[in-house]
Amino acid sequence: MTKKLELFINGKFIQSETKDWLEVLDPSTQEVLCEVPLATEKEINLAVESAKEAFLEWRDTPPPERSRVMMRYQDLLKKNQEEIAKILSKENGKTLEDAKGDVWRGIEVVEQAANITPLLMGETVENVAREIDSYSYIQSLGVCAGITPFNFPAMIPLWMFPMAIACGNTFILKPSEQDPMTANKLAELFLEAGAPKNVLQIIHGGKSQVDELLKHPDIKAISFVGSVSVGQYIYKTGTEHLKRVQSFAGAKNHMVVMPDANKAKTIDNLVGSSIGAAGQRCMAISVAVFVGSSKEWIEDLKREMQLVKPGPWDSEESGFGPLISPQAKERVIRLIEKGKEEAKCLIDGSRCEVEGFPNGNWVGTTLFTNVKTDSEIYKTEIFGPVLLCIEVETLDEAIELINANPYGNGTSIFTASGKAARKYRHEIEVGQVGINVPIPVPMPFFSFTGWKQSFYGDLHAYGKQAVRFYTETKTVTERWFEDDEKSSKNLTINLE
Ligand code: NAD
Repeated sequence: MTKKLELFINGKFIQSETKDWLEVLDPSTQEVLCEVPLATEKEINLAVESAKEAFLEWRDTPPPERSRVMMRYQDLLKKNQEEIAKILSKENGKTLEDAKGDVWRGIEVVEQAANITPLLMGETVENVAREIDSYSYIQSLGVCAGITPFNFPAMIPLWMFPMAIACGNTFILKPSEQDPMTANKLAELFLEAGAPKNVLQIIHGGKSQVDELLKHPDIKAISFVGSVSVGQYIYKTGTEHLKRVQSFAGAKNHMVVMPDANKAKTIDNLVGSSIGAAGQRCMAISVAVFVGSSKEWIEDLKREMQLVKPGPWDSEESGFGPLISPQAKERVIRLIEKGKEEAKCLIDGSRCEVEGFPNGNWVGTTLFTNVKTDSEIYKTEIFGPVLLCIEVETLDEAIELINANPYGNGTSIFTASGKAARKYRHEIEVGQVGINVPIPVPMPFFSFTGWKQSFYGDLHAYGKQAVRFYTETKTVTERWFEDDEKSSKNLTINLE
């Protein structure tokens, strides 16, 4: 019988009472790995109620004590990294090495959550008026919720709940229904790390379950990562229900290639960052902008790209895995077909087959040149192993082209010139810039700072911004009297 994935409510893994279940498929074979429940309204309410109750005690737990839970958690995640990665690879399709990276980049955030106390320090000013002192405290918000995408089933949940919980909140996680098993493993280890039984709850499901969370009066803040249309919907609906919302959305990331760059390094980095994880990364490079004579490298790029092949997650031969679903494959192939009308196709991965895996969602590496900025393949986030090449004459032209793009998640420039790199990082309207680094996902002591249509909200994920997002500031103004002090009425707003 097919395994039925459980919900995690009130510290227990429980079987959902719902009648609605979805199959979770292995993207290399279509084998059914488990069934995921679409949680009922009653179950969601129970989870929120339990998280609300847990908050009362958890917010009064001293931050150093909360940190110790995170210290044990990061240790357990490291010990179980391979096991988590295997669960993740099976349901998501990405190669085992890449899955370990997915877990690792989440562990880095847990390490930061384990050092939360200094980040929770307020501010003080003595004598803001005569003998009056002011100081501020950072206090927790309450029940927060997170809605996560399929493409990083470990890293993105770990961007959210460890920071929110370390800040003294309790958390409801709604992972992607396409690869939900990893989240249950993360919760199991969190409990093992000694977290109180109801500070984290997991609700499974899709749109209706997200809508319940967006409207629930006891949820104070929503963190979302996913596609642009859903990201906009989450931001609008969450704020309409007067919640704090941070919504991370899709992207179209450009790499500028200057003629003075290190050629071999540029080509290798371009290949890895465009087709790694089958291009299913929000920070994947999807457009290469060749400046001046660097366009002569396109033939070498083609040769190198052709060497990388998709395959199953557990084969060392596989450069990347399948797409997440047959629907995703169909969508990417439709865009490749469209691209053949709009641009010149140098490599066509649309008819890719992998021996022994006839049912996998395979798409091979695909490369287009002569791409125009008004074409559908340029305007759409393809989210497949597809790289577009555009040629321009100058760095100024490249900057103008990228700044005109509606997305602003990530970008990079490959060059040997400090002057060109400085100009680029200063003028480019993108929130995360790599200089000779293709995928500049910041480390957790910074924040994940996408711009423009890649992000809706004010405060970003992890780092100091996440602490601000998951907390309130309380400012105190304080004075003490001598017993025999003279008194008079102050009828003004002045502090005196
Ligand atoms: P998605 O938007 O389809 O789903 C994300 C989450 O939203 C899932 O949990 C899903 O159940 C839920 N959801 C789906 N449709 C919904 C609806 N109509 N109403 C409410 N909730 C809904 O995204 P995906 O396909 O899982 O992930 C890929 C996308 O995520 C890409 O666009 C990628 O760029 C983006 N992404 C962005 C970042 C970032 O940091 N900016 C990081 C990773 C992924």
